[in-house]
Amino acid sequence: MVNRALVLDSERKPLMPCHPARVRRLLRDGKAAVFRREPFTIILRERVGGETQPIEVKLDPGSKTTGIALVARGKRGRKVVLAAEITHRSGEIRDAMTKRRALRQGRRYRKVRHRAPRFLNRRRPEGWLPPSLESRVRQVETWARRLARFTPVTAVEVETARFDTHVLSVGYDLEGVEFQRGTLFGWELREYVFHRDGHRCRYCGGESGVPVLELEHGIPKARGGSDRVANLVTACRACNQAKGNRTATEWAEALAGSPTKLDRVRRAYATKVAVGKHPSLRDAAAINATRYAIGDRLKTLGIPVGFRTGGRTKMNRTTQGYPKRHWIDAACVGETAHRVRLDPGMTILRIRARGHGTRKRCGTDAHGFPIRHAPRAKRFLGFATGDLVRAVIPVGKYRGIHVGRIAIRHRPSFKLARFDVHPKYLALLQRADGYEYA
Ligand SMILES: [Zn+2]
Repeated sequence: MVNRALVLDSERKPLMPCHPARVRRLLRDGKAAVFRREPFTIILRERVGGETQPIEVKLDPGSKTTGIALVARGKRGRKVVLAAEITHRSGEIRDAMTKRRALRQGRRYRKVRHRAPRFLNRRRPEGWLPPSLESRVRQVETWARRLARFTPVTAVEVETARFDTHVLSVGYDLEGVEFQRGTLFGWELREYVFHRDGHRCRYCGGESGVPVLELEHGIPKARGGSDRVANLVTACRACNQAKGNRTATEWAEALAGSPTKLDRVRRAYATKVAVGKHPSLRDAAAINATRYAIGDRLKTLGIPVGFRTGGRTKMNRTTQGYPKRHWIDAACVGETAHRVRLDPGMTILRIRARGHGTRKRCGTDAHGFPIRHAPRAKRFLGFATGDLVRAVIPVGKYRGIHVGRIAIRHRPSFKLARFDVHPKYLALLQRADGYEYA
């Protein structure tokens, strides 16, 4: 299965996404033209309006990758018509900021021309997020907005609450909370513990090679251990069974004499579990910091937005037997997603955030000494870095047709993939929009 093409009528109003075979026919007969390459969108030449069915944009924002699914509700139930995954550039941004900070710090101590000190201009506006997180929020918003422009979207569903880290980590009773009893019981807690422990066995770190993870009681239930989060540990099935009815401390002691490597690893890990050392909550914190921001931005779309929990997503996905993928998680977001038709092997649109170039006008060497200046113009001969082009090269080693993103230079030799190409061989397919597609 492949993604459907998005369709606009001749007045640019969105219609239902269309099967690629039909799109090819329309294009061949001259009844439509390509409006946009990615996501592939066509515009009909002579049709205004048309029948539409409800379509939901479903989003599963993650710290590195966000899953997107467009789910249409037809006569035969819900079905994924377009799936995509965005790879964010949070890490790149963080690194660039760190580098910039280092350069500026170094410059302050250097003997250079006087620069008036800056005071009291560092107040952060309300709702400020670190640039790495802000970029992720904006990318999610951009794509929700884009899909809402090219398809007749009737609702947006987004996985916001992964789990409530505060409530769960203090181990309060979740009384009165909707998911405590009912079909979701246990899913939120279980997911939280797995996530906290990085989806790895806390007793062997994966050394046993057993992939099945279970929820394990540090102090066994049979010996009075509670169901509190503080007493719950992610363990692989092998370690869970080997530990049996012992506490983490007792097990660590019992493992002392064992000669095998696995047991030595287990002993080191079990000692840490015994003193209650938890892995860091940083990833969860990043997700939590942006979940409200993402929600707020999506509300500005003017389409009903539903906020759903991660436990429900996982339950929907697991009960339908789908594998774990970001886009499949997205398709399984929300109450209505307990029955969604999709093909796990489907070819999806892979989107990679690449940014819009740099604002840095002056390049420096490793010591912060200025060594080059960036040209003022972002375009040369009508092209900008990041434009999607088709190159038809008639001669030479690279002759043939190539499609890809170019990096321009301010001379007629642009970079396309791994070789250079003269702009006279290039035709523009789509202007740079800050993303790379595959
Ligand atoms: Zn293990």
